[in-house]
Amino acid sequence: MPRAWLEAIRRQMPAVELLRQVQPDESFEENFFSLPLNTIVSRSTATQTTFTSEALEQQLLQEDALLRGHFRLSSGLHSDTYVQCARFLRRPDLAAPAAAELARQIQQAGLQPDVVVGPAMGGVVIGYELARQLGVPGIFTERDDSGQMTLRRGFTIEPGQTIIIAEDVVTTGKSTNEVARVLEGLGAKVLAVASLIDRTGGNAALNFPNFALLPVTAATYAPDDCPLCRAGIPVVKPGSRPDKAFS
Ligand SMILES: [Zn+2]
Repeated sequence: MPRAWLEAIRRQMPAVELLRQVQPDESFEENFFSLPLNTIVSRSTATQTTFTSEALEQQLLQEDALLRGHFRLSSGLHSDTYVQCARFLRRPDLAAPAAAELARQIQQAGLQPDVVVGPAMGGVVIGYELARQLGVPGIFTERDDSGQMTLRRGFTIEPGQTIIIAEDVVTTGKSTNEVARVLEGLGAKVLAVASLIDRTGGNAALNFPNFALLPVTAATYAPDDCPLCRAGIPVVKPGSRPDKAFS
């Protein structure tokens, strides 16, 4: 291993700095992937950058990740609010300070996870970034062919390991509880859920702390009993407008 790398590891340099040490004539894969995981992922404290609820809401609105109006959701219900966090998380320069704020709150609460678990798809990106900032591995659960939430890809949880579940948005808390049950079934202890948006406005029925950067109160209505329809406001199905990249 090059001397510069050994020095970088001794100084617990973040992985991104470590990569800058790679010389053009060195094999990236050979050098990087031969490092033990706990060398690459050195435990670090969260950065000082913070993201207030107000600033986050502005950025979500600016990225069309949070829409206010009259929407037909994929469930068929109508709502005055539509959330698509992927449009926010596509920007690493926004995902990083958002995760930093979650990491700060988690550390301030004295919680020290061994692993961050971000349920696919919504939790994968924010889970990765939160894991990076907390200095621990980040993995994800996903549904198998029968629709059961599970760990695949060789991901494992050791009994007794402590977990933070990362979500982009907590919609009802139901799927977060489902993930928690799977992890607890493997012997893990779920410390908390960390999300960008809590669509329950802080009312999710969870058996563990709920760190959300932005509580959002969203009204949903049956299509045949929708005050927005009665007011004559046209209903929009997100994804139906070609000038917007919703999906
Ligand atoms: Zn309506």
